Amino acid sequence: MAVRIDYGRCISCGGCVALCPQGALRMKAFHLTLAPERCTDCRLCVNACPVGALWPGVSHYGEDYEAL
Ligand code: SF4
Ligand code: SF4
Repeated sequence: MAVRIDYGRCISCGGCVALCPQGALRMKAFHLTLAPERCTDCRLCVNACPVGALWPGVSHYGEDYEAL
């Protein structure tokens, strides 16, 4: 599972783009994009986003959020 982006909150600061070790996050014309196939759900970006715009794809119990 990949993280999810809340575009209503994202302020396009670019912080998560620089952090992602997989290069899964990109910024294009102030619009954040995610390549889900690259994301390992490490949550570095989730924990670093200053406005809480990124959500993990998997819960702390290992469950897929999409399935809940
Ligand atoms: S760190 Fe948060 S606010 Fe900044 S670009 Fe990423 S998702 Fe958007
Ligand atoms: S969870 Fe990790 S791998 Fe996925 S986009 Fe965020 S920093 Fe990159």
